[in-house]
Amino acid sequence: MRFYNTLHKKIEDFIPRDKNNVTMYTCGPTVYHYAHIGNLRTYILEDILEKTLNFCGYHVNRVMNITDVGHLTSDGDEGEDKMSVASKREHKSSLEIADFYTQAFFSDLEKLNLKKPETIIKASDTIDEYIKIISDLLEKGFAYKSNGNVYFDTAKMPNYYELSGRNKEDLVTAVRDDIKEDDGKKNQEDFGLWFTNSKFENPELVWDSPFGKGYPGWHIECSGISIKYLGEYLDIHCGAEDAVFPHHTNEIAQSEAYLGHKWCNYWLHLSFLNLNNLKMSKSTGEFITIDTLIKKGYDPLAYKYFVLNGYYHKQLDFTYENLDIAQKSYKRLKNKVLQLKNTGNIDLEIENEYINKFKDSLNNDLNTANALSLIYDVLKLNVSDATKRSIIAKMDEVLGLSLLETSEKKMVDKEITDLINKRNEYKKQKNFQKADEIRDELLSRNIRLIDTREGTTYEIIN
Ligand code: AMP
Ligand code: ZN
Repeated sequence: MRFYNTLHKKIEDFIPRDKNNVTMYTCGPTVYHYAHIGNLRTYILEDILEKTLNFCGYHVNRVMNITDVGHLTSDGDEGEDKMSVASKREHKSSLEIADFYTQAFFSDLEKLNLKKPETIIKASDTIDEYIKIISDLLEKGFAYKSNGNVYFDTAKMPNYYELSGRNKEDLVTAVRDDIKEDDGKKNQEDFGLWFTNSKFENPELVWDSPFGKGYPGWHIECSGISIKYLGEYLDIHCGAEDAVFPHHTNEIAQSEAYLGHKWCNYWLHLSFLNLNNLKMSKSTGEFITIDTLIKKGYDPLAYKYFVLNGYYHKQLDFTYENLDIAQKSYKRLKNKVLQLKNTGNIDLEIENEYINKFKDSLNNDLNTANALSLIYDVLKLNVSDATKRSIIAKMDEVLGLSLLETSEKKMVDKEITDLINKRNEYKKQKNFQKADEIRDELLSRNIRLIDTREGTTYEIIN
């Protein structure tokens, strides 16, 4: 597999440390609001990466954090405490807010057929690990106390600018927005590891620590969670392009200072989804969620289809016109796939050939658009329907577009259970005629009821 490694600014072959197992860390959501479809573009592509690695035979141990600690969107002790703002807005505690939006995030993943990462950890559940790392950094002289806070001393890391490709001069002039002046810091780019002297009055979530009662900085959570759950070495770290600086830059600095060796070899960054030429963002511009799209009559998977037609390392402009086109193509494609019968033998040679082409597309810098176009090629092949179905089903394990799932099926599932319950009611009332009518009606729709001692189940007859 090859993809663009931000660390070396070029496309590189991916060679994990262990030839069978990959460790993968993906920065997760900040749960003070719903995820927007820009955030979800990132999660869609990370899911494709994980499933591609699985498809190629690797076991992937993937970890994601949930940022539920008073999140500061930038490097210093500035900005607003998003969790507190949400608490006030919704009259709930920070933890209730975090819990609600975490569940909403999981439900978005489901709507897009994205697998939940194997390990999902709340930032607030790993405080001990941050304290351990920060204590060690203080001891080794990589961190210092100032104004009641603990800061990382970036001057101690000669490779501090490696990932971002920036330099100190750039920082002073160009990135004032990222790093606001803070009198307590030795260097402007130093960042907070632990805050006891926050500009926020009475932060809701604070913990005791050897450095005083307070809360962790934003960056330490990802280093802490990754090192605790994936160990000292990490194969791939992903996030959207805005994470390169300062977030991932600071993760590298503190992790490598703590571990005393190189931490992660591959950094994969997903480009933004833009709206009106600007990054779609939680705090500015129009906020489009998956539910907004559903309410407007779009299938979430049509949005996924739209994303997969783009290149992960290029920004993608969202417009409803583009989504309309994607939805039409997606529906047309799905219709064609659904018309395939389960007839004929499966031609394994052709299947292997196309599955290999599919793997090659994804392995070649995650070319999802090319992978999608192979489905159209398969539909045009002069082979049995069963062969086509089988190939497309395998491709869809990675793409997750539900191409072989009739939309009726989901409705039918619920409908069937409702009808089974209704039939049980009739049976209880000894109205066997009505009960039998339901059984026959289902049978006419190719659904056979099976009565067992434990209750009624059903099978779909092809
Ligand atoms: P947040 O919940 O704000 O911490 O963001 C979650 C993830 O979405 C992070 O990896 C962000 O970098 C990423 N992200 C934020 N905005 C966009 C966007 N417009 N397009 C793609 N990814 C984004
Ligand atoms: Zn992170």
